[in-house]
Amino acid sequence: MELQLPVIRLNKIGPNAYNPIYPVFVVGDNPIIREFTLTVDEVLRSVPLGHELSPIEKAYAARIVQQRVHQPAFRAQVMLAYAGQCTVCSLKHPELLDAAHIIEDGQPGGDPVVSNGLSLCKIHHAAYDRRLMGISPECVVEINGRLLEEVDGPMLRHGLQEMHGRPLVIPTRQQDRPDPDRLEQRYVKFLAG
Ligand SMILES: [Zn+2]
Repeated sequence: MELQLPVIRLNKIGPNAYNPIYPVFVVGDNPIIREFTLTVDEVLRSVPLGHELSPIEKAYAARIVQQRVHQPAFRAQVMLAYAGQCTVCSLKHPELLDAAHIIEDGQPGGDPVVSNGLSLCKIHHAAYDRRLMGISPECVVEINGRLLEEVDGPMLRHGLQEMHGRPLVIPTRQQDRPDPDRLEQRYVKFLAG
């Protein structure tokens, strides 16, 4: 804190698995209760400790913490649970994968927990969000009927049509598996769309 040097915070996300957050700065130290305060943001670093934040500053701080702490932790936990593969097509390239929400962020039930997450490759994430692909509460993939009838190249054929009826590749740990109630809520929207 005295040297004002950036540090790396390692957030534990599982056995021997950590999510690094950097740069992080120490802005407060309380040796009596053995506690120190970190900030993840350059701007918030200059705010004196104990200063009452304005509503705009509070909203800014919440957004930064969401982006820098909660979203990476959610992604890391989902990738770990799904062993870095797409739950639909089993593509094993984390750089092409997203941690998708079953119930959208900000909606009731849209918490950043693994049971509200799915590891999806970019194309399957977009297809899920645009309701071209649905996932039933029994964890079976469904492709939109219109799309099933289209005739086109290998991405449509292999990437989407052949996924119809396929069971998801789900995490081994029970508590990491997608929540059937959340899947159902989302599936109803797919059917309606
Ligand atoms: Zn995929």
